[in-house]
Amino acid sequence: MSCYREILSKVRLAFPSPVSDRVHDSYFVHSMMQAVDKVDALKSDRPILGEYTQLDYEAALQSNLNETGMSIEAVTSELVAYCKGLTIPGHPRTHHNVIPPPTIPSLIAMLITSVYNPNLVWDEYSHRVALAEVEVGAMLARLIGYNPEHSGGLFTFGGTGATLYGVKVGLEKAVPAAGGEGVREDVTLIGSSASHYCRYNVASWLGIGASNLITVNTDARNSMRLDELREKLHAALHGGARVAAIIATMGTTDAFGIDDLDAIVKMRDEMVEEFKLPYRIHVHADAVIGWAWSVFNDYDFENNPLGFRPRTLRMLATARRDICHLHLADSVGFDFHKSGFAPYTSSMVLFKERNDLSLLSRPQKQMPYLYQFGEYRPGMYTLESSRGGSGVMSAFASLKLLGKLGFQVLIGHLVEMTQLLREHLLGQDSVIILNRDNVGPVTVFRVYPDDEDVLRVREQETNDASYRDRVLQHNDYNRALFKWMHDEVMAARGGGVLSLTDCYQLTSYGEPMLGLKSFIMSPFIEEEMIMAVANKIFAARKGVATPRARDKQAV
Ligand SMILES: *Cc1c(COP(=O)(O)O)cnc(C)c1O
Repeated sequence: MSCYREILSKVRLAFPSPVSDRVHDSYFVHSMMQAVDKVDALKSDRPILGEYTQLDYEAALQSNLNETGMSIEAVTSELVAYCKGLTIPGHPRTHHNVIPPPTIPSLIAMLITSVYNPNLVWDEYSHRVALAEVEVGAMLARLIGYNPEHSGGLFTFGGTGATLYGVKVGLEKAVPAAGGEGVREDVTLIGSSASHYCRYNVASWLGIGASNLITVNTDARNSMRLDELREKLHAALHGGARVAAIIATMGTTDAFGIDDLDAIVKMRDEMVEEFKLPYRIHVHADAVIGWAWSVFNDYDFENNPLGFRPRTLRMLATARRDICHLHLADSVGFDFHKSGFAPYTSSMVLFKERNDLSLLSRPQKQMPYLYQFGEYRPGMYTLESSRGGSGVMSAFASLKLLGKLGFQVLIGHLVEMTQLLREHLLGQDSVIILNRDNVGPVTVFRVYPDDEDVLRVREQETNDASYRDRVLQHNDYNRALFKWMHDEVMAARGGGVLSLTDCYQLTSYGEPMLGLKSFIMSPFIEEEMIMAVANKIFAARKGVATPRARDKQAV
């Protein structure tokens, strides 16, 4: 056994040198480059890194800490091996979900920020990274139309964290004793049926109770039904409940539905007046996907300087009509790891009035935003204690890299390609687009066997209970198509990586309607790849037995 000092000197080599040392520094850079190089070597023309293999969780449970360590090179090889089978988010045949390819500067930001490990609990530990958090907050405030002199926010653990912060502040407004004494009143939280499932977590974790959520149904555009919101809000207030918040979803996860924030805020104002509420119901805009469309707030749609096709232009203009109201919300959630082209996790919650954050501070009386006086201590009011700086810096990097124009070009292209996909899918009379009226880069569609009349089937499946069995058969059929295409991609026989939503919507008689989903996020996508994916879907129809044929086999 070596003396510990001998081992220590080897271990030291595995840390970046704390003081300038050209040889040691270049060893660090070289090690990083080598890792990136090795991962790059797993790329082919497929949307998958290396080979996709079955996972053996039983074997994983046998893991044990080794007695002795490994060299950097050996660890690197191990790490690289764990990248095998990952989907490549920037691949033009990846239509996986709202998982963006990160920009090179956002990756650099992650890396160099991690090396020096700033902690945003306090600017003492994060210095200029804390400044960057305030700068990103100001950029986003101006982008959506908040006054940056009044607004303020922070980076947190995802869109879920952003919603949690928004609702927590709303809860403190509605129930001022909530933080200190707990929630003892009847409290509710309102969101649409298409809003993200994180509302259940938020209600549960804040003590509101998931069963006290009020869910408002959506219309054909996946947008919260205002008549039903009015009814349910009225009934809740009439019954004496306090409303922690209304969540307006600005870009739903499956369909890019957008709520009418303007109308929701007006309705809130009326109700506050009508019921003489001692608090103003908080409206949180869950814009984790839709925020980036704010770059079109001042786009010249008439002259269309970027030359988008007319149909694309209309989709962008339609989104702007609602997204331009973001500044009306009391708080807004932004995910850079969705439409900001940054790696996980990079999310900001921004409050129109930064003083709202004082409702969270410990102890209550202290000012939250001490940076006006030269010191920034978000740890006074954040849920997190340690808060890393890489989310802030990768968001900052993507914003600086792309600017408003870069975002316009990227989003415009993704929407344009989505339009093309829809055209190609509809070119064959076996597909219906479920979210036809939604204008984002996501398409939810359903494929039918030959004997189905696609002009009528949607209406029949949605509203005619005698179609119940057919709906379930078609769900199975689409699930089988999905699996067939997945196997094709994994076996390098072409096609694209799609995803599947088990319940795009419920039929009027309560059955889930499954949908196949394409979410286009790759800047590299072009029409021929769109066609390759669409053609594979049609090929799948030949590869998979129709539901009735399978029934016969079963008999
Ligand atoms: C993804 C998503 C969330 C949750 O965000 P995370 O970053 O995954 O925590 C919330 N709302 C909407 C609309 C989303 O699409």
